[in-house]
Amino acid sequence: NGFAALGLAPELLQAVAELGYTAPTAVQQKTIPLAMGNGAAAMGFIDLMVSSQTGSGKTAAFLLPVLHTLLRQQAEARAAQERTAADAAHTAAARGEDAPRRAKRKNPTDPRNFKAATPGALVLCPTRELAQQVANDAIDLVKHCRGLRVASVVGGMPYQMQIARLQNANLVVATPGRLLDLQRSQQLKLDQVQFLVVDEADRMLDLGFADDLAEIHQLTAQRRQTMMFSATFAPRIQQLALRVMHDGGASMQ
Ligand code: AMP
Repeated sequence: NGFAALGLAPELLQAVAELGYTAPTAVQQKTIPLAMGNGAAAMGFIDLMVSSQTGSGKTAAFLLPVLHTLLRQQAEARAAQERTAADAAHTAAARGEDAPRRAKRKNPTDPRNFKAATPGALVLCPTRELAQQVANDAIDLVKHCRGLRVASVVGGMPYQMQIARLQNANLVVATPGRLLDLQRSQQLKLDQVQFLVVDEADRMLDLGFADDLAEIHQLTAQRRQTMMFSATFAPRIQQLALRVMHDGGASMQ
């Protein structure tokens, strides 16, 4: 499978194979290694501006590297947690005590136990239809990723249902208006967002979302990677990039 050479996690390679993708498309081939920080090791994660059309495979081009990094971070966090638990048990045993008990877990589906969601990755789409399509693609790709959850936040859907799904979501796919509603009502915090994707940036501008995008961008983490996808690099898109990227982005076509 042509995806293996990109260094993606086995869970993602399996999902890609099951979707019947045998080789990365051109935009995937170019974007995935850059987005994963390969070939730019000294720079860490870089901001990207990618010109691509619908049908080019652009959705997987941004979802795969983001999911890959979230998976790796999760594995690292789990390993650290296990070390801490093992240390605690070891210390307790050395003192002749019982191992420390785990706190009882609260029922996560009870709205009284809801806390603000803190996703690590956010994909912004101009329309509800596109957001739902991207969320569905993400759900297909995380099929084998234990512990990675995807939620969508779009206008026209009942709030309660979206808030319930948001709990524990690692990746949120959203339209800007509804996302800001949930942020303002403190159902959602964006300060843990390290990956921000703006899909179809040109349509975002057509629909008047420039100020919303800038506001959302301000709310995300300081150390963050932004990827902007657009059919064209018209000057107005480049202006938007200046507002939502560290350095106006490394452009790619
Ligand atoms: P997109 O441009 O993201 O809307 O993707 C267009 C279509 O191509 C979608 O139906 C994807 O499922 C499909 N697709 C994405 N990547 C690949 C690939 N590497 N090989 C075959 N099909 C793909």
